[in-house]
Amino acid sequence: MDFSAVIVAAGSGQRAGPGRAKQWRTLAGKPVVRWSVEAMLAASARQVVVVVPADDRDIAAAAFAGLAGWELADGGATRDQSVLSGLSALRADADHPVLVHDAARPFLEPKHILTLLTALRDADGALPALPVADTIKRADSDFRVIATVDRTALWRAQTPQAFRLGPLSAAYLSWPSDQAPTDDAAVMERAGGRIVLTPGDTRLIKLTYPEDFAMAELMAAGARVTRIGQGFDAHRFGPGDSLWLCGVEIAHTQALIGHSDADAGLHALTDALLGAIGEGDIGDHFPPTDRQWLGAPSSLFLKHAADLIAGRGGRIVNVDVTLICERPKIKPHRDAMRARLAGLLGLSLDRVSVKATTTETMGFTGREEGLAAQAIAAVDLPT
Ligand code: MG
Repeated sequence: MDFSAVIVAAGSGQRAGPGRAKQWRTLAGKPVVRWSVEAMLAASARQVVVVVPADDRDIAAAAFAGLAGWELADGGATRDQSVLSGLSALRADADHPVLVHDAARPFLEPKHILTLLTALRDADGALPALPVADTIKRADSDFRVIATVDRTALWRAQTPQAFRLGPLSAAYLSWPSDQAPTDDAAVMERAGGRIVLTPGDTRLIKLTYPEDFAMAELMAAGARVTRIGQGFDAHRFGPGDSLWLCGVEIAHTQALIGHSDADAGLHALTDALLGAIGEGDIGDHFPPTDRQWLGAPSSLFLKHAADLIAGRGGRIVNVDVTLICERPKIKPHRDAMRARLAGLLGLSLDRVSVKATTTETMGFTGREEGLAAQAIAAVDLPT
C-alpha cells in the first residue's frame, strides 16, 4: 500500500538519563531511530522523512549509513512544530496516507503498518492502542487516593499513527499554539476527525527511562542469533623484499606468492566471515581465474564479506586471527594489524585479536616454505 512516513526524532529525551539523545543511542548495536527507518523502508514507504534537530544532521547521516530512501527535516521547538516540519517535506496529494511515528519506539514491524493503513480506509485516523491492565487510581497532590477509575474504556496510545496528509496538515495548522498535543490523533480529534484504534503491541515499547533501554536490549537479543565461522589459508614464500599480512606491509627477505596480494591473514579472516553467514568461500566471490583480482589488495575481499553481513542486518561481534610462521616476527606489527583490521571492519580494537605462533621448525611453515593463517569470527544476525 502506498504511504509515506514522518519519524519524529527531534527530542532531547532528558528522562532517558545522561548521554546522547535517546534516538541516537544504540540498541543491539544499531541507533534507536534506525530501527524505525528500516521498518518503514521494508514496508515500501514512498518517502521516509526523519525530523531531527538541525544540529544533528551529521549524526543522522552516520546513523542511516548504507540505507537508501530516507531524508531529513529540521525539528522545531515543540513536537507539533517538528511534525509539521516533517509533513511539509512530503510530496504527495491530500489523500496520501501518512504515518507519524516516534523514533523512540524501535520495534516497529511492517505488519503494524499494514494494519493501520487498512483501518485508515474507513476512518480519518488510526492508531495502535493497548488496553490498560493496571487498576487506575486518581489521587491528589498528597498522594491520597480520591477514586478508582473505571478502566474499561481506557487505552494506551502508541505510534505510528495513520492519517491522510491534507487533513492532518490542516488540523495541525489550526491547533492552538499555546497547547502541546501529546500525540497526533489528539490533533485530528480536535479537528473533528473520526479516529479508530487498531490492536496495539507490547513490543512497540517507548524508550523513555534508562531501564527501558535495558528491557529493549533483552527484547532485541531475543530476535537475534550469534553465528561463527572459521577460515584457513596458506601462501608460499617467493622472491621479494616485503609481504602483506592482515592488511599491513612488512619488510622481509621474501614475499608471499599468490594471485592477489597473497595476504593469508585477510584471506583466512574473509573466509571466516563468509563462513559465518554460509556464503561459500573467498574463491566463490573472487575467482583466481578472474584477471581483475590480479595483485588486488585483499582488503577488498574482507570489505566485501563485511558488506554482505551488513546487508543482512548483521554485525560482527569479534574476530580472532592466528598467524603461523617462523619469520617474519609478528609481534612488532601486531598492534598495526589490529588497528588495520578494526578500521576495515568498523570494530573497536577490543573486538579484534591477532595472535602468532610458530610450529617449532616442523612442517612447511617450520621450513619457511610459506606461512599459514587461521581465523574465527562471530557474527550477530537477525533470526
Ligand atoms: Mg589465499
